[in-house]
Amino acid sequence: MEEQVAQLQACMYQYSRAIYRSVKDLIDPYADRQTRLAYRRTVLRECEQTVERLAADPHYFARPDRALFQDIRRYFPITAQAQVAWAVREGVGAAMSFIRAQVEAGLFDGGVARCKATTRKGKACQRTPLPGRDYCPSHQHLERSVARAAAAA
Ligand SMILES: [Zn+2]
Repeated sequence: MEEQVAQLQACMYQYSRAIYRSVKDLIDPYADRQTRLAYRRTVLRECEQTVERLAADPHYFARPDRALFQDIRRYFPITAQAQVAWAVREGVGAAMSFIRAQVEAGLFDGGVARCKATTRKGKACQRTPLPGRDYCPSHQHLERSVARAAAAA
């Protein structure tokens, strides 16, 4: 399982690099060398963060392509905006389809754990657990009873 997670992380890294590579040469050509390097680093980091967040929370990250474009557009000249928007949409779209396929195949539960509870219909709860917890807000009472049972044992 851990190996699988490492492989998926490597794949996600490929996607963020691909998005970065598709836009890096469009970064403000009139900025000086130092500024351009700083811009490149920032753009790369934004690409990585977007893909990481997408992998961690594919169900609740609305319009990730638009969010990324909003975050990085200021590093590109006005003449490159359309191309950057297009590249970001393509790249983030590809990453999203990849993640969706993994989730559907059950290989990649969105990168993060799902709530460990079982719903009344007998299905696994699909909600995201509270930070650092095993259960979502509606099932957090289960965590307490598990902890109490463990303490009593
Ligand atoms: Zn739950």
